[in-house]
Amino acid sequence: MPVVPFKFVGAVALAIALPLAVTACGGSGDDGNKIVIGTKYDQPGLGQKNPDGTLAGFDVDVAKYVANELGYSEDQIEWRESPSPQRETMIQNDQVDYIVATYSITPERQQKVDFAGPYLITGQSLLVRADNNDITGAASLENNKKLCSVAGSTPAQRIKDKYPKVQLQQYDTYTLCIDALKNGGVDAVTTDEVILAGYAAQSPGTFKVVGDTFSEERYGIGLKKGDSEQRNKINDAIEKMISSGAWAEAFEKNLGPAGIKTPAPPTVDR
Ligand code: GLU
Repeated sequence: MPVVPFKFVGAVALAIALPLAVTACGGSGDDGNKIVIGTKYDQPGLGQKNPDGTLAGFDVDVAKYVANELGYSEDQIEWRESPSPQRETMIQNDQVDYIVATYSITPERQQKVDFAGPYLITGQSLLVRADNNDITGAASLENNKKLCSVAGSTPAQRIKDKYPKVQLQQYDTYTLCIDALKNGGVDAVTTDEVILAGYAAQSPGTFKVVGDTFSEERYGIGLKKGDSEQRNKINDAIEKMISSGAWAEAFEKNLGPAGIKTPAPPTVDR
């Protein structure tokens, strides 16, 4: 088989990617149209890709509910993985119609994208190995501990701002942090409590969540800046999901097994 120059492979990849990017812009909900949604693929309970290729989790259920309200059936959804550091760029470049991916609403991000919601409120916490006894909260990490979080996430930024003495390691995904915690490369992982509880439940007896939450993370659905029509429609869908009981049902199904009590649903920002 002839050696294919890298540039050529790149061009083919682009030729394949371009029509998909165009799909992301269109979409009135007619048959044959697709909606492109970004979520996490490696966060149990929230957004996780199963071995059979299907996706499961609370974010996935919220994303599907919203898509249905916008006129898209489940088989019209095209999923894209949207890791924390890439979310704003994916929205700005029209690679997705919207993102439901443990995505906190912040003023900095609102410079680049808009948010519908919030659809869930959680807070930053810490995950340690089950046998650890000396990490009790963020301040105890300044005692020469290695902490892992994800680049471009609000929890990583908060550690840099409030606990600058902590040795912070930043990876692209939480899975890499969890692997490092498992093999002793780091002493703790920080991000939102719902995410950490999902990892703890996935490996019973291996990890534990410690301390109280020390921030408020308001999860929004990220979309193109300035698209207020779409934002309003998504907000309507979130409100309907909450009032119909589907929101609580999805929470219990996806996060109940991790031991998280269903919280009061948030009020959408209008
Ligand atoms: N909610 C936080 C954020 O949006 C942390 C979780 C994540 O990285 O997705 O940055």
